[in-house]
Amino acid sequence: MLRSDFPILTQQVHGRQLVYFDNAATSQKPQCVIDAIGEAYSTWNANIHRGTHHLSQVATAKHEQARTILAQMIGAKDSREVLFTRGTTEGLNMLAFTFGQEFINQGDEIIVSAMEHHSNIVPWQMLCERKRAVLRVIPLRDDLTLDLQAYERMLSPRTKLVSVAHVSNVLGIINPVEEVIRLAHAHGVPVCIDGAQSAPHLPVDMQALDCDFFVCSAHKMYGPTGIGLLYGKLQWLEQLPPYQGGGEMIEHVHWSGTTYNVLPYRFEAGTPDYVGSYAWGVAAQYMQRCGLPSIADHEQDLTTYAEQQLSLIDGVRVYAAGLPKAGVLSLNVYDARGKLVHPFDIGTLLDQQGVAVRIGHHCAEPLIDALQVPGTVRVSFGMYNCRSEVDVFIAALQRALSMLR
Ligand code: PMP
Repeated sequence: MLRSDFPILTQQVHGRQLVYFDNAATSQKPQCVIDAIGEAYSTWNANIHRGTHHLSQVATAKHEQARTILAQMIGAKDSREVLFTRGTTEGLNMLAFTFGQEFINQGDEIIVSAMEHHSNIVPWQMLCERKRAVLRVIPLRDDLTLDLQAYERMLSPRTKLVSVAHVSNVLGIINPVEEVIRLAHAHGVPVCIDGAQSAPHLPVDMQALDCDFFVCSAHKMYGPTGIGLLYGKLQWLEQLPPYQGGGEMIEHVHWSGTTYNVLPYRFEAGTPDYVGSYAWGVAAQYMQRCGLPSIADHEQDLTTYAEQQLSLIDGVRVYAAGLPKAGVLSLNVYDARGKLVHPFDIGTLLDQQGVAVRIGHHCAEPLIDALQVPGTVRVSFGMYNCRSEVDVFIAALQRALSMLR
Protein backbone atom coordinates (compact mmCIF):
# COMPACT_ATOMS: atom_id res chain seq x y z
CA MET A 1 0.00 0.00 0.00
CA LEU A 2 1.17 3.44 -0.84
CA ARG A 3 -0.30 6.42 0.91
CA SER A 4 -0.08 8.20 -2.42
CA ASP A 5 -2.67 5.72 -3.74
CA PHE A 6 -5.25 7.80 -1.84
CA PRO A 7 -5.48 11.20 -3.57
CA ILE A 8 -7.82 12.77 -0.99
CA LEU A 9 -5.19 12.49 1.75
CA THR A 10 -2.82 15.02 0.19
CA GLN A 11 -5.12 17.98 0.78
CA GLN A 12 -4.94 20.67 3.42
CA VAL A 13 -7.86 21.49 5.71
CA HIS A 14 -7.97 24.91 7.39
CA GLY A 15 -4.39 25.47 6.16
CA ARG A 16 -3.07 22.26 7.76
CA GLN A 17 -2.22 18.89 6.27
CA LEU A 18 -5.35 16.71 6.65
CA VAL A 19 -5.15 13.95 9.27
CA TYR A 20 -8.10 11.68 8.54
CA PHE A 21 -9.04 9.71 11.68
CA ASP A 22 -12.72 9.10 10.87
CA ASN A 23 -12.31 5.75 9.16
CA ALA A 24 -14.96 4.02 11.25
CA ALA A 25 -17.52 6.30 9.61
CA THR A 26 -16.12 5.76 6.13
CA SER A 27 -12.72 5.05 4.62
CA GLN A 28 -11.02 6.91 1.80
CA LYS A 29 -10.65 5.29 -1.64
CA PRO A 30 -7.50 4.31 -3.49
CA GLN A 31 -7.05 5.55 -7.06
CA CYS A 32 -7.72 2.04 -8.46
CA VAL A 33 -11.25 2.11 -6.98
CA ILE A 34 -11.91 5.65 -8.23
CA ASP A 35 -10.65 4.59 -11.69
CA ALA A 36 -12.79 1.44 -11.65
CA ILE A 37 -15.96 3.53 -11.36
CA GLY A 38 -14.89 5.78 -14.25
CA GLU A 39 -13.89 2.75 -16.32
CA ALA A 40 -17.26 1.08 -15.76
CA TYR A 41 -19.26 4.08 -16.96
CA SER A 42 -16.93 4.92 -19.82
CA THR A 43 -16.39 1.44 -21.25
CA TRP A 44 -18.87 -1.29 -20.28
CA ASN A 45 -21.96 0.14 -18.59
CA ALA A 46 -25.13 -1.83 -19.40
CA ASN A 47 -27.85 -3.38 -17.29
CA ILE A 48 -26.85 -6.85 -16.17
CA HIS A 49 -28.45 -10.31 -16.46
CA ARG A 50 -30.98 -11.16 -19.18
CA GLY A 51 -28.99 -9.14 -21.74
CA THR A 52 -27.95 -10.84 -24.96
CA HIS A 53 -25.75 -7.98 -26.12
CA HIS A 54 -22.03 -7.72 -25.52
CA LEU A 55 -21.94 -4.90 -22.97
CA SER A 56 -24.60 -6.52 -20.84
CA GLN A 57 -22.64 -9.74 -20.81
CA VAL A 58 -19.44 -7.94 -19.82
CA ALA A 59 -21.27 -6.07 -17.04
CA THR A 60 -22.87 -9.29 -15.79
CA ALA A 61 -19.51 -11.05 -15.71
CA LYS A 62 -17.92 -8.16 -13.76
CA HIS A 63 -20.75 -8.16 -11.21
CA GLU A 64 -20.60 -11.91 -10.68
CA GLN A 65 -16.77 -11.88 -10.53
CA ALA A 66 -17.04 -9.32 -7.73
CA ARG A 67 -19.40 -11.65 -5.86
CA THR A 68 -16.80 -14.42 -6.18
CA ILE A 69 -13.94 -12.15 -5.00
CA LEU A 70 -15.95 -11.10 -1.94
CA ALA A 71 -17.11 -14.64 -1.21
CA GLN A 72 -13.47 -15.76 -1.23
CA MET A 73 -12.37 -12.81 0.87
CA ILE A 74 -14.81 -13.65 3.69
CA GLY A 75 -14.37 -17.39 3.32
CA ALA A 76 -17.89 -18.23 2.11
CA LYS A 77 -18.20 -21.80 0.82
CA ASP A 78 -20.35 -20.75 -2.11
CA SER A 79 -20.77 -17.38 -3.84
CA ARG A 80 -24.58 -17.87 -3.67
CA GLU A 81 -24.16 -17.19 0.06
CA VAL A 82 -23.22 -13.56 -0.69
CA LEU A 83 -26.22 -11.29 -1.23
CA PHE A 84 -25.53 -7.73 -2.32
CA THR A 85 -27.28 -5.09 -0.24
CA ARG A 86 -27.04 -1.31 0.06
CA GLY A 87 -24.88 -1.74 3.15
CA THR A 88 -24.80 -3.19 6.65
CA THR A 89 -28.02 -1.42 7.61
CA GLU A 90 -29.95 -2.90 4.72
CA GLY A 91 -28.46 -6.33 5.39
CA LEU A 92 -29.68 -6.26 8.99
CA ASN A 93 -33.13 -4.98 7.99
CA MET A 94 -33.33 -7.67 5.34
CA LEU A 95 -32.45 -10.35 7.86
CA ALA A 96 -34.83 -8.98 10.51
CA PHE A 97 -37.67 -8.90 7.99
CA THR A 98 -37.13 -12.28 6.32
CA PHE A 99 -35.95 -14.29 9.32
CA GLY A 100 -38.63 -12.61 11.40
CA GLN A 101 -41.33 -13.45 8.89
CA GLU A 102 -40.39 -17.12 8.85
CA PHE A 103 -39.12 -17.91 12.33
CA ILE A 104 -40.26 -15.37 14.93
CA ASN A 105 -43.51 -15.71 16.81
CA GLN A 106 -45.09 -14.12 19.87
CA GLY A 107 -42.94 -14.57 22.97
CA ASP A 108 -39.79 -15.57 21.05
CA GLU A 109 -36.55 -13.87 22.04
CA ILE A 110 -33.78 -12.21 20.04
CA ILE A 111 -30.49 -11.35 21.73
CA VAL A 112 -28.28 -8.37 20.92
CA SER A 113 -25.58 -6.72 23.05
CA ALA A 114 -25.37 -3.45 24.96
CA MET A 115 -22.76 -2.08 22.54
CA GLU A 116 -24.67 -2.37 19.26
CA HIS A 117 -24.97 0.22 16.52
CA HIS A 118 -28.55 1.44 16.02
CA SER A 119 -28.74 -0.59 12.82
CA ASN A 120 -28.34 -3.76 14.90
CA ILE A 121 -30.98 -2.61 17.39
CA VAL A 122 -33.83 -0.83 15.62
CA PRO A 123 -34.65 -3.50 12.97
CA TRP A 124 -34.96 -6.03 15.82
CA GLN A 125 -37.09 -3.65 17.89
CA MET A 126 -39.37 -3.17 14.87
CA LEU A 127 -39.58 -6.94 14.38
CA CYS A 128 -40.33 -7.50 18.07
CA GLU A 129 -43.11 -4.95 17.90
CA ARG A 130 -44.55 -6.60 14.79
CA LYS A 131 -44.39 -10.12 16.17
CA ARG A 132 -44.74 -9.38 19.89
CA ALA A 133 -41.35 -10.93 20.46
CA VAL A 134 -38.82 -9.86 23.10
CA LEU A 135 -35.44 -8.18 22.56
CA ARG A 136 -32.89 -9.16 25.20
CA VAL A 137 -29.60 -7.36 25.75
CA ILE A 138 -26.26 -8.87 26.81
CA PRO A 139 -24.96 -6.52 29.52
CA LEU A 140 -21.38 -5.24 29.76
CA ARG A 141 -18.98 -5.90 32.60
CA ASP A 142 -17.23 -2.99 34.32
CA ASP A 143 -14.34 -3.26 31.86
CA LEU A 144 -16.91 -2.79 29.02
CA THR A 145 -16.50 -6.32 27.66
CA LEU A 146 -19.54 -8.54 27.07
CA ASP A 147 -20.79 -10.39 30.14
CA LEU A 148 -20.70 -13.88 28.65
CA GLN A 149 -22.01 -15.53 31.82
CA ALA A 150 -25.12 -13.36 31.73
CA TYR A 151 -25.41 -14.17 28.01
CA GLU A 152 -25.23 -17.90 28.64
CA ARG A 153 -28.02 -17.61 31.21
CA MET A 154 -30.19 -15.75 28.67
CA LEU A 155 -30.08 -18.54 26.09
CA SER A 156 -33.25 -20.66 26.30
CA PRO A 157 -35.68 -22.51 24.06
CA ARG A 158 -37.34 -19.11 23.48
CA THR A 159 -34.14 -17.71 21.90
CA LYS A 160 -34.47 -17.68 18.11
CA LEU A 161 -31.52 -15.51 17.00
CA VAL A 162 -28.43 -13.76 18.38
CA SER A 163 -27.03 -10.69 16.58
CA VAL A 164 -23.85 -9.01 17.86
CA ALA A 165 -21.12 -6.71 16.61
CA HIS A 166 -17.76 -8.29 15.86
CA VAL A 167 -16.02 -4.99 16.68
CA SER A 168 -17.67 -2.10 18.52
CA ASN A 169 -17.79 1.07 16.41
CA VAL A 170 -17.46 3.14 19.60
CA LEU A 171 -14.98 1.24 21.75
CA GLY A 172 -13.04 -0.67 19.10
CA ILE A 173 -13.28 -3.75 21.33
CA ILE A 174 -13.06 -7.05 19.45
CA ASN A 175 -15.89 -9.15 20.86
CA PRO A 176 -15.33 -12.85 21.57
CA VAL A 177 -17.75 -13.75 18.79
CA GLU A 178 -16.37 -17.30 18.46
CA GLU A 179 -17.57 -17.95 22.02
CA VAL A 180 -20.88 -16.12 21.43
CA ILE A 181 -21.48 -18.35 18.39
CA ARG A 182 -20.39 -21.55 20.13
CA LEU A 183 -22.75 -20.96 23.06
CA ALA A 184 -25.68 -20.09 20.77
CA HIS A 185 -25.09 -23.13 18.58
CA ALA A 186 -25.02 -25.34 21.69
CA HIS A 187 -28.66 -24.21 22.07
CA GLY A 188 -29.40 -24.63 18.36
CA VAL A 189 -29.65 -20.85 17.89
CA PRO A 190 -28.27 -19.13 14.74
CA VAL A 191 -26.02 -16.07 15.02
CA CYS A 192 -25.64 -12.95 12.90
CA ILE A 193 -22.37 -11.03 13.16
CA ASP A 194 -22.36 -7.31 12.40
CA GLY A 195 -19.00 -7.08 10.66
CA ALA A 196 -19.23 -3.40 9.66
CA GLN A 197 -16.18 -2.66 11.83
CA SER A 198 -14.34 -5.97 11.60
CA ALA A 199 -14.23 -6.60 7.84
CA PRO A 200 -12.26 -3.35 7.23
CA HIS A 201 -9.67 -4.11 9.91
CA LEU A 202 -9.31 -7.87 10.43
CA PRO A 203 -9.22 -10.97 8.27
CA VAL A 204 -12.70 -12.54 8.62
CA ASP A 205 -13.42 -16.15 7.77
CA MET A 206 -16.96 -17.51 7.73
CA GLN A 207 -15.72 -21.09 8.12
CA ALA A 208 -13.57 -20.31 11.17
CA LEU A 209 -16.28 -18.15 12.75
CA ASP A 210 -19.07 -20.55 11.79
CA CYS A 211 -21.60 -17.70 12.03
CA ASP A 212 -24.91 -18.17 10.22
CA PHE A 213 -25.15 -14.60 8.92
CA PHE A 214 -22.64 -11.77 8.50
CA VAL A 215 -23.07 -8.21 7.27
CA CYS A 216 -20.63 -5.49 6.19
CA SER A 217 -20.40 -2.31 4.08
CA ALA A 218 -18.05 -1.62 1.15
CA HIS A 219 -17.58 2.06 1.98
CA LYS A 220 -15.74 1.23 5.22
CA MET A 221 -13.50 -1.19 3.28
CA TYR A 222 -11.95 1.26 0.78
CA GLY A 223 -14.81 0.55 -1.62
CA PRO A 224 -17.70 2.68 -2.91
CA THR A 225 -20.74 3.92 -0.99
CA GLY A 226 -24.16 2.33 -1.38
CA ILE A 227 -23.20 -1.34 -1.44
CA GLY A 228 -22.65 -4.03 1.16
CA LEU A 229 -23.33 -7.69 1.68
CA LEU A 230 -25.38 -10.07 3.71
CA TYR A 231 -23.71 -13.46 3.97
CA GLY A 232 -25.91 -16.37 4.98
CA LYS A 233 -25.28 -20.08 5.12
CA LEU A 234 -27.09 -21.69 2.19
CA GLN A 235 -29.23 -23.84 4.45
CA TRP A 236 -30.59 -20.69 6.12
CA LEU A 237 -30.98 -18.55 2.99
CA GLU A 238 -32.91 -21.34 1.33
CA GLN A 239 -35.49 -21.18 4.11
CA LEU A 240 -36.00 -17.40 4.07
CA PRO A 241 -38.86 -15.73 2.18
CA PRO A 242 -38.06 -12.96 -0.33
CA TYR A 243 -37.52 -9.42 0.95
CA GLN A 244 -38.44 -6.99 -1.84
CA GLY A 245 -40.46 -7.94 -4.88
CA GLY A 246 -39.68 -6.81 -8.42
CA GLY A 247 -37.50 -7.66 -11.39
CA GLU A 248 -34.65 -10.16 -11.10
CA MET A 249 -35.98 -11.87 -7.97
CA ILE A 250 -38.65 -13.77 -9.88
CA GLU A 251 -38.74 -16.92 -11.99
CA HIS A 252 -42.18 -16.36 -13.56
CA VAL A 253 -44.89 -13.79 -12.92
CA HIS A 254 -48.51 -14.48 -13.83
CA TRP A 255 -51.76 -13.04 -12.54
CA SER A 256 -52.34 -16.42 -11.00
CA GLY A 257 -49.16 -16.08 -8.95
CA THR A 258 -45.39 -15.64 -8.99
CA THR A 259 -42.54 -18.05 -8.54
CA TYR A 260 -39.19 -16.87 -7.25
CA ASN A 261 -35.67 -17.00 -8.62
CA VAL A 262 -32.83 -19.09 -7.19
CA LEU A 263 -30.24 -17.80 -4.72
CA PRO A 264 -28.76 -15.21 -4.60
CA TYR A 265 -31.05 -13.39 -7.07
CA ARG A 266 -34.19 -14.10 -5.04
CA PHE A 267 -32.95 -11.43 -2.60
CA GLU A 268 -31.75 -8.92 -5.19
CA ALA A 269 -34.86 -7.26 -6.61
CA GLY A 270 -34.33 -4.56 -9.22
CA THR A 271 -31.20 -3.35 -10.98
CA PRO A 272 -28.31 -4.01 -8.62
CA ASP A 273 -25.40 -1.63 -8.10
CA TYR A 274 -23.17 -3.51 -10.54
CA VAL A 275 -20.73 -0.58 -10.81
CA GLY A 276 -20.50 -0.57 -7.03
CA SER A 277 -19.97 -4.33 -6.82
CA TYR A 278 -17.22 -4.14 -9.45
CA ALA A 279 -15.46 -1.28 -7.66
CA TRP A 280 -15.83 -3.13 -4.34
CA GLY A 281 -14.17 -6.17 -5.89
CA VAL A 282 -11.27 -3.92 -6.95
CA ALA A 283 -11.07 -2.54 -3.38
CA ALA A 284 -11.11 -6.07 -1.93
CA GLN A 285 -8.25 -7.11 -4.19
CA TYR A 286 -6.36 -3.98 -3.16
CA MET A 287 -6.83 -4.93 0.52
CA GLN A 288 -5.67 -8.47 -0.26
CA ARG A 289 -2.56 -7.18 -2.02
CA CYS A 290 -1.76 -5.08 1.06
CA GLY A 291 -2.38 -8.17 3.18
CA LEU A 292 -5.22 -8.30 5.70
CA PRO A 293 -2.97 -9.52 8.54
CA SER A 294 -0.53 -6.64 7.88
CA ILE A 295 -3.40 -4.14 7.86
CA ALA A 296 -4.61 -5.56 11.19
CA ASP A 297 -1.11 -5.42 12.73
CA HIS A 298 -0.49 -1.89 11.49
CA GLU A 299 -3.79 -0.58 12.88
CA GLN A 300 -3.27 -2.43 16.15
CA ASP A 301 0.11 -0.71 16.44
CA LEU A 302 -1.45 2.71 15.80
CA THR A 303 -4.17 2.06 18.38
CA THR A 304 -1.67 0.96 21.03
CA TYR A 305 0.64 3.89 20.26
CA ALA A 306 -2.26 6.39 20.40
CA GLU A 307 -3.41 4.93 23.72
CA GLN A 308 0.10 5.22 25.16
CA GLN A 309 0.40 8.83 24.06
CA LEU A 310 -3.08 9.69 25.35
CA SER A 311 -2.27 8.16 28.74
CA LEU A 312 0.41 10.84 29.15
CA ILE A 313 -2.15 13.67 28.96
CA ASP A 314 -3.84 14.68 32.23
CA GLY A 315 -7.61 14.28 32.28
CA VAL A 316 -7.90 12.03 29.22
CA ARG A 317 -9.97 8.89 29.65
CA VAL A 318 -9.72 6.22 26.96
CA TYR A 319 -12.61 3.74 27.14
CA ALA A 320 -11.72 0.06 27.43
CA ALA A 321 -8.08 1.13 27.82
CA GLY A 322 -5.57 -1.67 27.49
CA LEU A 323 -7.94 -4.03 25.66
CA PRO A 324 -7.03 -5.10 22.11
CA LYS A 325 -8.87 -2.92 19.60
CA ALA A 326 -9.41 -3.01 15.87
CA GLY A 327 -8.44 0.46 14.70
CA VAL A 328 -10.99 2.39 16.78
CA LEU A 329 -10.83 4.09 20.16
CA SER A 330 -13.03 6.49 22.10
CA LEU A 331 -12.03 9.04 24.69
CA ASN A 332 -13.28 11.89 26.79
CA VAL A 333 -11.43 14.71 28.45
CA TYR A 334 -12.00 16.08 31.96
CA ASP A 335 -10.84 19.45 33.27
CA ALA A 336 -8.87 20.01 36.50
CA ARG A 337 -12.12 19.98 38.51
CA GLY A 338 -13.14 16.68 36.98
CA LYS A 339 -15.79 18.25 34.73
CA LEU A 340 -16.28 16.74 31.29
CA VAL A 341 -15.07 18.87 28.41
CA HIS A 342 -17.82 18.53 25.81
CA PRO A 343 -16.68 16.29 22.94
CA PHE A 344 -18.10 18.81 20.47
CA ASP A 345 -15.57 21.42 21.63
CA ILE A 346 -12.72 18.95 21.22
CA GLY A 347 -13.93 17.89 17.77
CA THR A 348 -14.21 21.50 16.60
CA LEU A 349 -10.77 22.50 17.87
CA LEU A 350 -9.18 19.41 16.32
CA ASP A 351 -10.89 20.14 12.99
CA GLN A 352 -9.47 23.66 13.00
CA GLN A 353 -6.03 22.02 13.14
CA GLY A 354 -6.80 19.70 10.21
CA VAL A 355 -7.55 16.61 12.33
CA ALA A 356 -10.81 14.83 11.42
CA VAL A 357 -12.29 12.80 14.27
CA ARG A 358 -15.92 12.03 15.03
CA ILE A 359 -17.77 13.14 18.11
CA GLY A 360 -21.21 12.24 19.40
CA HIS A 361 -23.10 9.03 20.13
CA HIS A 362 -21.83 7.24 17.01
CA CYS A 363 -25.27 5.69 16.44
CA ALA A 364 -24.92 3.71 19.65
CA GLU A 365 -27.01 5.75 22.09
CA PRO A 366 -27.70 2.92 24.53
CA LEU A 367 -23.95 2.41 25.00
CA ILE A 368 -23.33 6.15 25.38
CA ASP A 369 -26.16 6.29 27.97
CA ALA A 370 -24.45 3.47 29.86
CA LEU A 371 -21.17 5.41 29.83
CA GLN A 372 -23.15 8.36 31.27
CA VAL A 373 -21.63 10.94 28.94
CA PRO A 374 -23.17 13.08 26.17
CA GLY A 375 -20.88 11.42 23.64
CA THR A 376 -17.25 10.56 23.01
CA VAL A 377 -14.42 11.68 20.79
CA ARG A 378 -13.76 8.77 18.45
CA VAL A 379 -10.45 8.27 16.70
CA SER A 380 -10.40 5.57 14.03
CA PHE A 381 -7.57 4.44 11.78
CA GLY A 382 -7.24 3.16 8.27
CA MET A 383 -4.38 1.31 6.62
CA TYR A 384 -2.90 4.59 5.30
CA ASN A 385 -2.57 6.29 8.69
CA CYS A 386 0.79 6.46 10.43
CA ARG A 387 2.40 7.17 13.78
CA SER A 388 3.45 10.67 12.77
CA GLU A 389 -0.24 11.49 12.27
CA VAL A 390 -0.93 10.22 15.78
CA ASP A 391 1.77 12.67 16.95
CA VAL A 392 0.03 15.51 15.07
CA PHE A 393 -3.30 14.51 16.66
CA ILE A 394 -1.78 14.40 20.16
CA ALA A 395 -0.18 17.83 19.72
CA ALA A 396 -3.48 19.19 18.35
CA LEU A 397 -5.38 17.72 21.31
CA GLN A 398 -2.92 19.28 23.76
CA ARG A 399 -3.31 22.64 22.05
CA ALA A 400 -7.11 22.28 22.18
CA LEU A 401 -6.95 21.48 25.89
CA SER A 402 -4.70 24.41 26.69
CA MET A 403 -7.22 26.69 24.93
CA LEU A 404 -10.18 25.16 26.76
CA ARG A 405 -8.52 25.14 30.14
N1 PMP B 1 -22.85 -1.54 12.44
C1 PMP B 1 -21.71 -0.98 12.86
C2 PMP B 1 -20.93 -1.63 13.95
C3 PMP B 1 -21.26 0.19 12.25
O1 PMP B 1 -20.12 0.75 12.66
C4 PMP B 1 -22.01 0.78 11.20
C5 PMP B 1 -21.56 2.07 10.53
N2 PMP B 1 -21.16 3.07 11.42
C6 PMP B 1 -23.18 0.14 10.81
C7 PMP B 1 -23.57 -1.00 11.45
C8 PMP B 1 -24.04 0.69 9.70
O2 PMP B 1 -23.34 0.67 8.49
P1 PMP B 1 -23.90 1.40 7.20
O3 PMP B 1 -24.20 2.82 7.62
O4 PMP B 1 -22.80 1.31 6.21
O5 PMP B 1 -25.13 0.68 6.77
